[in-house]
Amino acid sequence: MTTSLKSQLLKKELSGVEGLNISDSQRDIERFSKDFFDYSPILFEQLNTCLADLIVKPSSLEAIIAVARACKKNNVPLTLRGSGTGNYGQCVPLNGGVVMLMSEFKKIRRIDPISGEVTVESGCLLRDLNNQLATKGRQLRILPSTWRSASIAGFVSGGSGGIGSVRWGFLRDPGNLLGLEIITVEDSPRKLTLDVNKSEPLNHAYGTNGIITALTLATSPLIEWQEVAIDFKDWIDAVDFMRTVSQAAIELFLCSLLQKDIIEQIPAWSGKYNGCHRLLILVASDGLTTLERLATSAGAIFNYLGPENEKQGTGLRELTWNHTTLQMRAVDTDWTYLQMLLPQPELKAMNSLSKKWRKDLLWHLEAVRQQGSQRLAALPLVKWRGKKFMDQLIHDCRDAGAIIFNPHTITVEDGGLGVIDVDQVEAKKLYDPEGILNPGKLKGWLH
Ligand code: FAD
Repeated sequence: MTTSLKSQLLKKELSGVEGLNISDSQRDIERFSKDFFDYSPILFEQLNTCLADLIVKPSSLEAIIAVARACKKNNVPLTLRGSGTGNYGQCVPLNGGVVMLMSEFKKIRRIDPISGEVTVESGCLLRDLNNQLATKGRQLRILPSTWRSASIAGFVSGGSGGIGSVRWGFLRDPGNLLGLEIITVEDSPRKLTLDVNKSEPLNHAYGTNGIITALTLATSPLIEWQEVAIDFKDWIDAVDFMRTVSQAAIELFLCSLLQKDIIEQIPAWSGKYNGCHRLLILVASDGLTTLERLATSAGAIFNYLGPENEKQGTGLRELTWNHTTLQMRAVDTDWTYLQMLLPQPELKAMNSLSKKWRKDLLWHLEAVRQQGSQRLAALPLVKWRGKKFMDQLIHDCRDAGAIIFNPHTITVEDGGLGVIDVDQVEAKKLYDPEGILNPGKLKGWLH
C-alpha cells in the first residue's frame, strides 16, 4: 500500500482522538511541507516537490502519543514541525506521510527561582519564552535570529547557535541543554524523562530520534542590552578589532561584522551607509565606555544606538546571523550563503578566498565561543552561479582551512561536521527502532 493510502487509513483511525486537529487540505499540505530551504537553490531542486499526506496538530500529550502509535502501526513516516523556519529542509517530509505541528504544545512548566533553569514544552516560541523569563529576571542564553517566530524544540533539534553564541557557545556545548521529556515511536509509545547525558544525542538530530515534548534549559541573568555600531574604513582593522573586543573583559551578546557591500544594501537600522565596514554589537551597559575607548584608539567611528528595543523587529538582531542573508535576499534572490568556522589567522584565509571570488563572496562574520575559545565564524553571502561553482567554493574554503557547515545538504551529518555520531544512531535504535521519524535525514541510520 502506498504511503498516501496508508495516511488516509490513519486519518480515519485518528479522527476520534481528543485534542487532535487533522487536515489533508491541499493548502495545509503545501504550507506545512516547506521551510526556508529556498535559501539554497540546491535544496530547492531536491525538496520543492516533497509533500506530506496528512497534517496533524496535537494539543495534548495523549494526542501526541496517539499519533506516534498510529504512525508506527501503519508504518507511515512522521515528521515533526515547530515553526518551519529551518534552512536545511529539516522538517520537510522526504517520503510523504504525516507532518505533526507541535505549535499547540507550548506551556512553560517551571522556572526554577534559584537556578533559573526552565522547563518548557516543545512548541513554545522563543519570543514568548524569553518574555516570560524576563518577568523572573532571566533570559535565554542563545537565540537564533528567527527568535520571534521559531519554537524551542525546533531550535534545539534543528538549529545550532546564534545571538548569545559569542558568550555561551553552541547549543551542543555542555551546560546549555539540561534534560528532555520525549515520546518514543513504538507499538506502545513511552514517555521518558532523559537526563542531561541521555538528552545530548537528540540535540541537533532533526527530530529523527525521538519526539521532544519538553526541554529543560539553562538561562542567564537578564541584561538590558545596548546597541552599538562601529565603523571601519579598513577591513583588516575591523577584523582585528572584532577579535580584540570578543576577548575583552566586557559582556557581549552579539558581535557581528558586515563587509561594506552588505551594509550598503541592508536596511539602515544600524545607521546610514557611509562607505565603511560595520561591527554590530549588543553589549551590557558597563561595557560601553571600554568599547568606546577601544574603538576610538583603533581610529573607528563609535555610534551608540541606545538600549535594545526588542518590540519593533528593526534592531541589530534582525541584521545578523542568517537574517543578514534574509536582508540580502530581499534585495536580490540570487544571493545564497555558506557557513564556516574560519581558520586562524582568519585574514589570511579570507584574503585568499576574496582574491579569487571577488564580489561573488561577501564577508559576514560572527564572533563565537567554540569549545571555550573565542573564534570567528563566517556566514558569507555567495552569488549563485550554479552547483559546480558552489562545490568549487566549498573546496577552496576547506583548502584554506575553514570548517564548513554546509547549508546545501539535507542530512544531520552533512550539515554538521560530516561524520556520523554513533550516539545519535544509538538513540534512534532505542526511541524509534523502526525508523518512522523524519526518514532520510540521519545518514548513520541504515535500516
Ligand atoms: P523547525 O524548522 O520547525 O524544525 C527544525 C527541526 O526540528 C526539524 O528537523 C524538526 O523535525 C525538528 N523538530 C521540531 N519540533 C520538534 C520536536 N518537538 N521534537 C523533535 N524534533 C522537533 N538557526 C540557528 O541556529 N541560528 C540562527 O541564528 C538562525 N537564523 C536564521 C535566520 C533566518 C532568516 C532563517 C530563515 C533561519 C534561521 N535559522 C537559524 C534556522 C531556524 O530558524 C532556527 O534553527 C529555528 O530555531 C528553528 O526553529 P523552528 O521552530 O522553526 O523549527
